[in-house]
Amino acid sequence: MSVSLERVRELDRQDPLADFKCRFALPEGVLYLDGNSLGAQPTAARQAVDGTLDQWRDELIKGWNQGWFDAPERLGDLMAPIIGARDGEVVVTDNITLNLFKLLGYITGQRSDDRRTVLSEGGNFPTDGYIAQGFCRVSGHEHRFLPEGGELAAHLDGVAVVVLSQVNYRTGRLRDMAATTRLVHEHGAEVIWDLAHSAGALPVDLNGCGARYAVGCTYKYLNGGPGAPAFLYVHRDHQDGGWQPLSGWHGHAAPFAFEADYAPAGDITRFRTGTHSALIYSALEASLSVWAEVDMQALRDKSLAMSELFRECLAGIFAAHGIEDLTPPTEARGSQVSLVDTEHGYAIVQALIARGVIGDYREPGLMRFGFTPLYLSFEDVWRAARHFREVVESGEYREPRFQVRGAVT
Ligand SMILES: *Cc1c(COP(=O)(O)O)cnc(C)c1O
Repeated sequence: MSVSLERVRELDRQDPLADFKCRFALPEGVLYLDGNSLGAQPTAARQAVDGTLDQWRDELIKGWNQGWFDAPERLGDLMAPIIGARDGEVVVTDNITLNLFKLLGYITGQRSDDRRTVLSEGGNFPTDGYIAQGFCRVSGHEHRFLPEGGELAAHLDGVAVVVLSQVNYRTGRLRDMAATTRLVHEHGAEVIWDLAHSAGALPVDLNGCGARYAVGCTYKYLNGGPGAPAFLYVHRDHQDGGWQPLSGWHGHAAPFAFEADYAPAGDITRFRTGTHSALIYSALEASLSVWAEVDMQALRDKSLAMSELFRECLAGIFAAHGIEDLTPPTEARGSQVSLVDTEHGYAIVQALIARGVIGDYREPGLMRFGFTPLYLSFEDVWRAARHFREVVESGEYREPRFQVRGAVT
């Protein structure tokens, strides 16, 4: 390959984040480039979950008063600095899908004008559009898609709220959050930012961008564990806007008063719904304790250096094998490399997995490789690229066993 092993080892020696790798438990012989789908396990997570199991055994119901019940707000405050928010602006609860529904209802419930459209992004992760459509069925709003690549300003007429991803899950393209937020507000609409592929992948500055509403998940770049809860952000000045539609008892102003009628809590707590899993919150809290030590600019620098290294190691191979590289230029890139081969993409990813190189595949034809600076070294990236080159150049992916499809891709 054009890039020497000596050079990548030198990059590793100079890497200020190199010591974080030993804080993660990764299986032997695996090169993991799928932290954008499910983050790796922080070693502290096992101890934390074991501790919560012990607490359940020994303390029983008392555990709810020993940190379980207020975990959504406590973890929200731990999340806040990672996404440029302040204490009291973030709650960790439910999943992105439900949090979008809550925010759609909360935002539209405050509007008294005749804007009746909910706009979501064509080409975004499907659940964002699905839940907007479901919301519109019960609320009577009209749902529209912003065409992929369409000019946002031309589609904001009559729009009450638009749902946008900061980083697109397929292409890895990064939107300018400050400029876009300003544009949407100037057109009299609100925007809910989906940070699924940006929180923990790059520095995010919700307050600095003037963002009022955001959601994101913690099981991807943030390493919270399978099924770890999502987060929901509402700017401090926009927290007294009435009900959110999933008005459950944990979001009540006095959940243990057991009153007949709902009254929303006066702060970010109103976005809670019902009982959560103390076990998975403890895994996430362990991960957030690692994040508290991370310099996000160093993370960004390493992320871009790794995705560039991967592409450099594969120079020439894309054109020679009909693979399209969708990866945006570095200034507009999240933390992934996106390659398309509609005919062989699935089989190439399967052949790589058989070699211990885990990326993922998304229809149609998309091969995604995520770069997670806390537990990947430059040498890992170099080795993964070498496997990619070998799989493609040898035609190994053509073997019948790599054509078989499982339920989860
Ligand atoms: C992963 C992802 C989701 C996941 O939604 P959940 O409700 O947490 O399962 C939503 N939106 C985007 C953009 C994603 O990438």
